Amino acid sequence: QRVAKGEPVQYVLGQWDFRKLTLKVDRRALIPRPETELLVDLVLKSRQARETPKPLVVDVGTGTGCIVLSLAKEMRDGLFVGLDISAEALALARENAALTGLEGRVLFAESDGCGELDPASVDVLVSNPPYIPSKVVDGLEPHIRDHEPRLALDGGPDGLDVYRSLLMDAVVVLKPGSGVFLEIGDEQGHALREMLEEY
Ligand code: GLN
Repeated sequence: QRVAKGEPVQYVLGQWDFRKLTLKVDRRALIPRPETELLVDLVLKSRQARETPKPLVVDVGTGTGCIVLSLAKEMRDGLFVGLDISAEALALARENAALTGLEGRVLFAESDGCGELDPASVDVLVSNPPYIPSKVVDGLEPHIRDHEPRLALDGGPDGLDVYRSLLMDAVVVLKPGSGVFLEIGDEQGHALREMLEEY
């Protein structure tokens, strides 16, 4: 009945698989998407993840914790940090760390962006930020628009607001030779390339 009324099946089940993990999912955070599993692949294959001893890996806007928990599970070593502006999402991410036996391997902290980290400290910065233009969010399918957190979807007027503030912080906290791994909307490649060059 809940699904028939438009609630996402993932929230009704209360759990969903992401890579090797079964995670708790509810209205506190975005439902993990299959595309984001590929973002984790890109990190795992990167020179930064494979060749840096104990890399500092930071997931900005961690939501359920799906990205950083998968990296902690699938990378040999590293220091793993999940940040989110939403205290509710962080509570869920911490529950997921406990459920997956990864408690103690990932540190979760409330933060708007990653600007509070030490300068030149981060080896891998990964994020699947909200990147949908505000006007487009209003027209999304109801099972998304009316149930998933708007904070997790809405990237401002052109969808790029969070990338801007993220990259502004990134230039300070990234170590030379580090890597930045971002999920982006399918029409945002050109804008993101320009923005990355600028920063
Ligand atoms: N990082 C989380 C995920 O990939 C949350 C993303 C978001 O809320 N925009 O599912």
